[in-house]
Amino acid sequence: MGIHTEYSCSECGFKLVDSSDIFWIDDEKKIHVDMQTVDSSKKASDSLASGGIYKYYCYNCDNYIFNFHVSRKSGFIEKELVIQLIEDLDDNIKIIDFDNKFQSCIHCRNEVPLKQEKSFAIDNKGEFFIEDSLYNDFDSKQFDFTGKYYGYYCRDCGKQINKFVILENNANLEDSLIKEILEDHTNDLTVYINDSYFTCPICGDELQVLGESSSCPKCRVGLLTIEKQTLFD
Ligand SMILES: [Zn+2]
Ligand SMILES: [Zn+2]
Ligand SMILES: [Zn+2]
Repeated sequence: MGIHTEYSCSECGFKLVDSSDIFWIDDEKKIHVDMQTVDSSKKASDSLASGGIYKYYCYNCDNYIFNFHVSRKSGFIEKELVIQLIEDLDDNIKIIDFDNKFQSCIHCRNEVPLKQEKSFAIDNKGEFFIEDSLYNDFDSKQFDFTGKYYGYYCRDCGKQINKFVILENNANLEDSLIKEILEDHTNDLTVYINDSYFTCPICGDELQVLGESSSCPKCRVGLLTIEKQTLFD
């Protein structure tokens, strides 16, 4: 189901329209963008590659940035072609990224299939938890850090790849210490990625998502308020 929202500025009347858009690349390698509906979601799930489009704004250089997040990709299309098709779509400033679940083998660089996806957490006593369910199913304990684990196996090289993506670092631990702790809990090769926020590709400042109560991008005095919101499917 999609949401279409119209915002307006309480001071200058500036209007902003936002909708949940998706994209997909069809069998003929053509790219499509549409609002998220039952119909478009079906086309996306039958396509060569698909994902969501998220809109960001940079208050420093006054640019809108579109994040194309590829969440599905078949083996019939190369990663490089997906990137090229998205870049050629229009003149908007884009950040193209692939979901954390995608991984290439560190040795032969081939794409490796995802075998396992789990949630993990380390509590303040250093105890390691790993579970199938989402990490919000962990009881309301105080964790030093939590994240997602992705397990892969490269048949060509006979190597296991363990990837840990940190989603919350409550204890503000240094990257090197997190890595050390994770390496204590796995014997195999470990890839470690810290999930970080996007920065503006033009000026390097932090990007913001515009929504209710955001400072108006035009006058910078008023706040954005929702004028109209429509749900559709
Ligand atoms: Zn390999
Ligand atoms: Zn910027
Ligand atoms: Zn305004």
